[in-house]
Amino acid sequence: MTTGNRGLFLDLAGTLVKMDETRQLPIDRLGNVSVELLTGVREKLAPIRDCLIFVVTNQAGVKRGRLRLEQVEAAIVEVDRQLGDILSGWKICPHDDSDRCGCRKPAGGMMQELAGTYGVDLAASTMVGDQEIDELAARAAGIGSFVCASEFFGWDDAGR
Ligand SMILES: [Mg+2]
Ligand SMILES: [Zn+2]
Repeated sequence: MTTGNRGLFLDLAGTLVKMDETRQLPIDRLGNVSVELLTGVREKLAPIRDCLIFVVTNQAGVKRGRLRLEQVEAAIVEVDRQLGDILSGWKICPHDDSDRCGCRKPAGGMMQELAGTYGVDLAASTMVGDQEIDELAARAAGIGSFVCASEFFGWDDAGR
């Protein structure tokens, strides 16, 4: 018998928001993370009512001193504001590979932790991301389906 909420787990950079040429969150001249939603993201997510929506993001830049955890949190809060307060929660991995943590994708820790907190049935849930590590992380967490961001948001090859 299945119980629990369905979750929609979303990667951040390259999935919800634009990234820079190093595939990281863009930082402006004042040192702030600039948040720019990708095409179709708001339109696609706004009507969703049948699942809890989460952001799960690797931010090794925190470990490497490129940005602070609070800046990443502020960026996600801003994303949520632009999306109309649709997020139920989020997880940030501030580590890099050398930390061997259980949260950095392709590990499944962030989604599993959110599932525990919010009563999410992972097998009934979906993950959306722009990289293979997102798909691997979905599998590691036991998430039932993965959809690449370009398909989910309807981007053509020309981009976002
Ligand atoms: Mg990404
Ligand atoms: Zn981690």
